[in-house]
Amino acid sequence: MSDVSPTRIDPSLAKTATRLARVGLAGLVLLPPLLWSAAIVMVEQHKAIGQDAPNSHWLGLDMFEWWSISAVALTSVAITLSLWVFVIQRPVHALHKAERRMRVLDKRDALTGLPNRAGLNLALELALARWRGTTRKVGVLVLDVDRFRLVNDSLGAGAGDQLLRSVASRIRALVRDADVVARIGADQFAVQVAGITGVAALDVMARNLLRTFEAAHDLGGHATVTSLSIGVAVQAETAETADGADALLQCAELAMREAKAAGGSCSRVFDASMRVGDNRRLELDQQLRRALREGEFVLVYQPIMDASGERIVATEALLRWADPQRGMMSPAEFIPVLEQTGLIVEVGGWVLRDACRQGAKWFARGARSLVVSVNVSPRQFADTGFLASVKSTLTETRFPGHLLQLEVTEGLLLDPSPETLRKIGELVVCGVRFAIDDFGMGYSSLAYLKTFPLQTLKIDRMFVKDIALQPRDAAIARAIVDLGHGLGMKVTAEGVETAEQFALLRSLGCDSLQGYLFSRPLPVAQMQELLDRPDAPDPDPEARPGETHREPGLIIPA
Ligand code: C2E
Ligand code: MG
Ligand code: MG
Repeated sequence: MSDVSPTRIDPSLAKTATRLARVGLAGLVLLPPLLWSAAIVMVEQHKAIGQDAPNSHWLGLDMFEWWSISAVALTSVAITLSLWVFVIQRPVHALHKAERRMRVLDKRDALTGLPNRAGLNLALELALARWRGTTRKVGVLVLDVDRFRLVNDSLGAGAGDQLLRSVASRIRALVRDADVVARIGADQFAVQVAGITGVAALDVMARNLLRTFEAAHDLGGHATVTSLSIGVAVQAETAETADGADALLQCAELAMREAKAAGGSCSRVFDASMRVGDNRRLELDQQLRRALREGEFVLVYQPIMDASGERIVATEALLRWADPQRGMMSPAEFIPVLEQTGLIVEVGGWVLRDACRQGAKWFARGARSLVVSVNVSPRQFADTGFLASVKSTLTETRFPGHLLQLEVTEGLLLDPSPETLRKIGELVVCGVRFAIDDFGMGYSSLAYLKTFPLQTLKIDRMFVKDIALQPRDAAIARAIVDLGHGLGMKVTAEGVETAEQFALLRSLGCDSLQGYLFSRPLPVAQMQELLDRPDAPDPDPEARPGETHREPGLIIPA
């Protein structure tokens, strides 16, 4: 494996080379007259001792004088040339090389020792100049570490740094020595590959990189698997637009974002249509800020049923964006942008307030045990104001803390920072419950489960989807139910769409179920109607004596 840190050029070396070059230059100027004077002296001495050759007195010089002068002149030319090559040309050339290298290396990232974005730009400019006018091209791969923030948030900044160093080494080990590897953003790397004939070479490289990342990184005893989203761009493919280093890099970044949007762990080659997508993303960010200001976000609520499928025990608040132009937008389309820009902290705060306000209204109308479940993104949880914001929301809205459930992802709980532990601990004291959303899709470590007083595991709908067809999925679901129950937790199955899935999950012992079979996410008014039905959701039989129960399966059309 090659070393990540490139060797540093000693600045004193460059100074020595400059001095040598000056001495060489002085020599070049002074030596010919010196040698010439030596020749004249020799001839004069020759004449003085009276060795006069009888023939060829051309220009007053005899043959011997001619030979002497020619020999000295030739020697002077030879010495001059050698001086030029060995004393001046070589150090000056070396100096230029060293200077160019220093200019690249001085623009380095302190954590990995790799060139940073400015260093890569410079290297790209040099490479583009070097291969200009030839059939060979310069290409760039931009690599983004998928879910890096999750590792950073859950394992701490130290582990994050360790992961970045490990990623850098892995990339460096896979590319050629001549390729430039740079760190161009927090969790973004780039590889410059010069002298290639086309994109095929980069495609192979991208695939090899993706394969290399299937193996786990050892972060101080924690085996952590990360994947990459890779964008590829080649000078030829970006001919009209990418004549400079910046533009080429931009194209590779656009392609990388396409790979990310496709779910990560894949690569995409740049094509011109991607520019449209990028502009759209920028536009989206602006529109989302406006949406928050203008109140265009709304919450819909999806009922969560008890094991019989008859009674609503909870409801999950799910975010929607009522865009005036495009209509109702699904969170899958805009939550990644909110996460990227950090706007999720503000939007998440709004979600929490709105859900608690609504929960308090339902509570006041008699739904005394209806749990309201709210999704919390890792970035929102990590925010320093998160704990205070949950507490003040509960106080302001008067929603009982024990009816609020926060859905967090596994990444947050895996070897958490003391800060995460403190936040969870304080919220649990307030009665707030925690559910692990999409359980089974994240990490292989289960050790964190014994650390926290968590209430619920939500089986990811990926395992529910084929549960009736795939015995392996059924086995995983069973294992999750047993694990949850073994730890004194409740288990909710998500994405229940068919009666068959429902029957199976019930037989496995799931405590509650959520999915289109029971209800799609509903606007407040419709959720209200469901709650107002005589059979749901009041859990307190004393409160409504004599009421009859509905038939199982609360199936509500989309
Ligand atoms: P999630 O928390 O796992 O939410 C469940 C998602 O599954 C919802 O998608 C829901 O509509 C969908 N779903 C429910 N039942 C079924 C079913 O039977 N079949 C299928 N195919 N899907 C079903 P939705 O509303 O599009 O939300 C997607 C994800 O967006 C959520 O996944 C959650 O991770 C995120 N999200 C939604 N609202 C918020 C929010 O307010 N804050 C944060 N941070 N994330 C949110
Ligand atoms: Mg959820
Ligand atoms: Mg989920």
